[in-house]
Amino acid sequence: MNLHEYQSKKLFADYGIPVPQGIVADSAEAAVAAAEALGGELWVVKAQVHAGGRGKAGGVKLAKTLDAVREAAAGMLGQQLVTPQTDAAGLPINQVYVESGSNIDRELYLSMVVNRDSRRVAFIVSADGGMDIEEVAHKTPERITTIDIAPEVGLADYQIREMAYGLELDKAQQKAFAKVARALYKMFVDIDASQVEINPLITTGEGEIKALDAKINIEDNALFRQRDIETLRDLCQEDEAEARAAEHDLNYVSLDGDIACMVNGAGLAMATMDVINVYGGEPANFLDVGGGATAERVAEAFKLILSNDKVKAILVNIFGGIVRCDLIADGIITAVKEVGVEVPVVVRLEGTNVEQGRARLSDSGLDIISATDLTDAAKKAVAAAA
Ligand code: GDP
Ligand code: MN
Repeated sequence: MNLHEYQSKKLFADYGIPVPQGIVADSAEAAVAAAEALGGELWVVKAQVHAGGRGKAGGVKLAKTLDAVREAAAGMLGQQLVTPQTDAAGLPINQVYVESGSNIDRELYLSMVVNRDSRRVAFIVSADGGMDIEEVAHKTPERITTIDIAPEVGLADYQIREMAYGLELDKAQQKAFAKVARALYKMFVDIDASQVEINPLITTGEGEIKALDAKINIEDNALFRQRDIETLRDLCQEDEAEARAAEHDLNYVSLDGDIACMVNGAGLAMATMDVINVYGGEPANFLDVGGGATAERVAEAFKLILSNDKVKAILVNIFGGIVRCDLIADGIITAVKEVGVEVPVVVRLEGTNVEQGRARLSDSGLDIISATDLTDAAKKAVAAAA
């Protein structure tokens, strides 16, 4: 789950990580009121979307007058922001964050990830912040410092010094940075983050270290114990079908093809997509309905699949291990009737009570194409979609 910049910065502030003062606003008038409340003579108006690269896309504007704040906010709110990190449709701007402008000395890069290779939380820092870090990693990898943290030890002082060295900080800044790094590590663990990115982390003329941008990703599998954080979810920023799937405990990922898949088990779902590919088709989605595929969930899954108008055929591939095939067949029949499926449906059932299941499908009077095995099913689905 992604957080907005303003939500991330609130968490930073709670942990004592310096951030600019800011107020979130959902109208141009509210943005002006926010700027007035903040005071000063330089503000930054920032589009709140779940994507980076806003600066180059017109989603970050400096304003020197209240009129300029109004104009910037009015120009962003209600629009879709397309950045190099979004798709062509972009993401809706429903809020802007109005901040006091900062006096930037240098722009640094800092991120934290769960490093799957070392199986540890890692800090990644570079003195070359503000720009595309992928480009820095590609062209000048020696400018990037990566630190893996042993969970039983925590962030050690020598590691902080190594990062401060990589960031080319002076004495006063090193002290400030040590505080920031310790606070970030504590926060990362506390909130079950999977990723934190600050680009840029800035130094100011006054020897401060400040997070000018903030991006936090929370590990979805930990949300059950992060109820407060879960309330920060903004569904407007998420793929609609994927968000709906999450509500019903279905694992769904939208893809570009035209053959929808409904499968129980992630491994079987991956294999199904591969076999579709082998026979010249393209899957429209990944969908794992899980082990306990009930009639209700199968119906929800059909609705989800059909909300994608690119779908030209549906391949249902269910292995009845824990669930019985006759129950699944009932679920499919109910769902097809209820949802009104108008594209060909190819069904491959295997496992417990498979004969009864197949009989139910053929007796249903519905136009369901039965397949004997996965190869047969994939060939029939590809043919049906063509
Ligand atoms: P992103 O483009 O989505 O990553 O948004 P950022 O929050 O990183 O902002 C993009 C750029 O805007 C930063 O790298 C800064 O150069 C600039 N910027 C943001 N806030 C300020 C500010 O308070 N003062 C100044 N001078 N520049 C800012
Ligand atoms: Mn940024």
